[in-house]
Amino acid sequence: MIYLEKLECTRCKATYSPENPHNLCQCGAPLFARYKLKQIKDELKREDINNRPPNLWRYRELLPITEGKDIISLGEGFTPLTPAISLGKKLGLERLWIKDESFNPTGSFKARGMSVAISMAKKLGIKEVCLPSAGNAAGAAAAYSARAEIGAFVFMPQDTDTCFILECKSYNAQLELVKGVITDCAAVMLERKKGSDWFDLSTLKEPYRVEGKKTMGYELAEQLGWELPDVIIYPTGGGTGIIGMWKAFEEMEKLGWIKGKKPRLVCVQSEGCAPLVKAFNEGKNSAEKWEKPETIASGIKVPQAIGDFLVLKAVRESEGTATSVTDEEILECLKEISETEGILPCPEGAATLAALKKLKKENKINPEEKIILFNTGTGLKYVESLKKYFI
Ligand SMILES: *Cc1c(COP(=O)(O)O)cnc(C)c1O
Repeated sequence: MIYLEKLECTRCKATYSPENPHNLCQCGAPLFARYKLKQIKDELKREDINNRPPNLWRYRELLPITEGKDIISLGEGFTPLTPAISLGKKLGLERLWIKDESFNPTGSFKARGMSVAISMAKKLGIKEVCLPSAGNAAGAAAAYSARAEIGAFVFMPQDTDTCFILECKSYNAQLELVKGVITDCAAVMLERKKGSDWFDLSTLKEPYRVEGKKTMGYELAEQLGWELPDVIIYPTGGGTGIIGMWKAFEEMEKLGWIKGKKPRLVCVQSEGCAPLVKAFNEGKNSAEKWEKPETIASGIKVPQAIGDFLVLKAVRESEGTATSVTDEEILECLKEISETEGILPCPEGAATLAALKKLKKENKINPEEKIILFNTGTGLKYVESLKKYFI
C-alpha cells in the first residue's frame, strides 16, 4: 500500500503527480512528498513498527515506495543512539546522546537519502543520475546507483579527500573533479548535463532524498520511547537533515505519535562558511551566497543552499538557534569525542560538540535537558585532511 498522495511545492503550494519524475517546482522551490496521514493514522499504530527490521524502511508507510524489487537497500538507518555518559559528565549534562550516523552504508547519513531517492529513480525508470557533492553524497549515490544498475555522474571539488574518490571509482561512477567548491561543481554539472537524460539528484532539487533523511526524526522519537529530545544539534550545509527532521516531527504530530513541545533545532556551521547563521542572526528569511568558503568540515562547506528558507523557518519555528564554530574548535572536539566516547566523528559531527559548549556558556542550554549531538558520518573518510593534526 502506498500512502504517498502528491508532491507539493514548499513555497507556492502547487501540486504535482508522483507518477512522474520531478525536480523543482515551476516557481523554483523544492517539492515535498505529502502523504494520506489521516488514513495512515487509522491503519498504522506506532507499536506496529516495533518488530520490523532495523533499517529506515521500517517507516515504509511514511516513505514514497513501500515494497517490491525497486527498493534499493543496503541496511541504512536505525543507527545507534549512544548515551554520551563521560562527555556528559565532563560538561555537567545528564542526558546527552550521540546519534551515530557513521554506522550507515558508505559511512554517512547521506545513505538514507540515496536509498530512497535511488529506489524512486528505479521505480520511475530513470537510467542515469547526476549530482554535485562535497564527498559523502557522491559516495552514497555511487553505491546505491551501482546496486540499482543506474549510471551515476558525480562532480566533486578537486581537493576532496582521496577516500571519497576511491569510493566513487570503485562503484564505477563517472567522476569529474572540479576546481572550487560544491556550487562550482554544480555549475560544471549543468554544462555537462545539456542534451543528456541525466536526472538531477542535487540536494532538495528532487523530492525524495529528504524523505530518506527525515527518518532520523522518526528514529529519535522511537529510540527515546516516543518522547522527543529538548535540543537537537546538527551540522548544516544544504539543510536536508534539519528540514527532514522538522517534516518528520510535523508528520508524527498529525499521526498522534508524539505530543508536546518539539525539539529546539540548532543549525551549526563553520565560521569559514556560515551563510545560514548570518541570515538567522540578521532576521532574514533567505541567505546570501558566502564568498570564499573555507573549512575542514567539507560536508558543510556549502556557500548557498536552495532550501535556505526552509532551514531558517524550521529553526525559528522550533525556537532553536544557529551558531558557528571555528576549525580549531572542530579539531579539538573531534579529539575529545574520540577519546571520551570511542567514536571517531567526522569534522561536521565534531562541530556539534563545539556548538554545544558555546550554547552552554551562553546559558542557552539547561543541564537537565535531553540533548542530541548528530555525528553525521565517520571521521575515517577524512584521513588526508585530518592526518596533519593527529599523526
Ligand atoms: C552533507 C553533510 C552534512 C550536511 O548535510 P545537510 O544537507 O545540511 O543535512 C553534514 N555532515 C556530513 C558528514 C555531510 O556529509
